[in-house]
Amino acid sequence: MAIPLTPKLMRMKGTDDVAPRCIALQGEIGRQVGCCIYEHRPSPCHEFNPWAALGMVDAACDRARLRHGLRPLSELQKSELQAISKPA
Ligand code: SF4
Repeated sequence: MAIPLTPKLMRMKGTDDVAPRCIALQGEIGRQVGCCIYEHRPSPCHEFNPWAALGMVDAACDRARLRHGLRPLSELQKSELQAISKPA
């Protein structure tokens, strides 16, 4: 599931593709997705927070959403945010 970059650094397959999609992401983007290795996900995934520090929307998250035709998190209503934040 990962590609070695250096002796101590690896990258999840699919994350550096022209149309990035991590190999561990299962489901249909825009409907329901989940990480199939969530308990063992790599450190960058632990550190990524779509709400970033101070409750601000992470620009990288919005860019990823736009690539898949989804509205930026900053444009969603509170009820929509609650709906997409529920665990599957
Ligand atoms: S949390 Fe990390 S490993 Fe899991 S699908 Fe997302 S990018 Fe891939």
